[in-house]
Amino acid sequence: MADTYDFKCPTCKARGGFEEVMVNVVVTSEVTLGMDGIVHYDDQTNEHGSIEQYQCSACGETLLDADGDVIDGHDELFEWFKRHTDG
Ligand SMILES: [Zn+2]
Repeated sequence: MADTYDFKCPTCKARGGFEEVMVNVVVTSEVTLGMDGIVHYDDQTNEHGSIEQYQCSACGETLLDADGDVIDGHDELFEWFKRHTDG
C-alpha cells in the first residue's frame, strides 16, 4: 500500500483523521431475528451513493477547496492535501 497523507485539521488542529460522508447509499445487512423480537445486524454492504463531503473526525469541519466550495471528489481531495501538506 502506498504511504498516506497525515491529516491535520486546519480548524481544530487535531490529527485524528477525516471522514468521507456519502448520501443515497443502499445498505444491505445480514440480519437475524431474536426470539425477543429484536433484529440483530451482521455484515453490511454499501452500494451506490455519492460523496457529500469530507470532514474532520474530531470537530466535523468540512474540507473546502481553494474557491471555498465543499470538496466532493477524490481529485479535489488530493489537491486539498497537496495544498495543506508541507514538503
Ligand atoms: Zn477539526
